[in-house]
Amino acid sequence: MIDLRSDTVTKPTPEMRKAMAEAEVGDDVYGEDPTVNRLEQLAAEMFGKEAALFVASGTMGNQVSIMVHTQRGDEVILEADSHIFWYEAGAMSVLSGVMPHPIKGKNGAMDPDDVRKAIRPKDIHFPRTSLITIENTHNRSGGRVVPLENFKAIYQIAKEHGINVHVDGARIFNASIASGISVKEYAKYADSLMFCLSKGLCAPVGSIVVGSKQFIERARKARKILGGGMRQAGVLAAAGIIALTKMVDRLKEDHENAKFLATKLREIGYSVNVEDVETNMVILKTDNLKVNAHQFLSAMREKGVLAVAFSDTSIRLVTHNDVSRKDIIEKALNVFEELFREFRR
Ligand SMILES: *Cc1c(COP(=O)(O)O)cnc(C)c1O
Repeated sequence: MIDLRSDTVTKPTPEMRKAMAEAEVGDDVYGEDPTVNRLEQLAAEMFGKEAALFVASGTMGNQVSIMVHTQRGDEVILEADSHIFWYEAGAMSVLSGVMPHPIKGKNGAMDPDDVRKAIRPKDIHFPRTSLITIENTHNRSGGRVVPLENFKAIYQIAKEHGINVHVDGARIFNASIASGISVKEYAKYADSLMFCLSKGLCAPVGSIVVGSKQFIERARKARKILGGGMRQAGVLAAAGIIALTKMVDRLKEDHENAKFLATKLREIGYSVNVEDVETNMVILKTDNLKVNAHQFLSAMREKGVLAVAFSDTSIRLVTHNDVSRKDIIEKALNVFEELFREFRR
């Protein structure tokens, strides 16, 4: 099987397995796991923030951040196609009692003017706007990089109104590698930022939230409330340290493979926008095929290639460490050629 569903399917590398087996551990709820402490310190340094918190998942990282930044009845401004809005099972409403205020962006970036207009004036009828979130890279737009200028503009508007900014940076390292802008630079315009170790960086489990010392103290308590206080989590953190120190630069390969795959799909005749491929995702439209996205995915699966649907007419393909250029050339593209002959309109 060639699994292009997501970079979350990546397995821990042999080096990670070894580090995990040998990890020094302690009880992290008591703050005594040296490996977790090392990972958190490393992450804080890399992002230029005072502190960091290791959490079980990206969703947990986003949600502890929302819990800390908001009060019940508040409103959160976010992009209408963002992960927090689409894929976190309504968690912000369930856990924090807050309301999302979605704004349609362009390639994942909200227009700062739209953000400004969405901020609620002080009025007894209105919820209080207490948080704005930005997602980078932006998943549902196909891994697009949100420009730093957009971060700056939105952060400035937020600060003018006494509002905090949380960055869902699940794939912030992909954004950084693609743009050449350091993660530290992006993090300057965030009161908190979450990123995933378990996607393109290949760790088996875990995400990190970075922020001020005071924010992380409160986030640690929120994590406990959610049942996310872990004990000898150093076995997981050990893989996270390898992810941060050894796996970031190779994301470039994933981006090159995505561009290559998109170019070849286009050559076969598929409806793919090669110029839109900025990181490790390719969006394939099924509008020139005889079948819809779900039917096409079934046909792909029968021939050993996996992907996911974004809608009835679009499919997302994600490149990562466990799919090589050779896999793409020798297997995936042959399948795509066969399927195009079968299903072209
Ligand atoms: C994957 C992802 C998350 C978090 O996902 P988990 O599966 O909970 O780790 C958050 N935001 C974005 C944009 C993501 O792609």
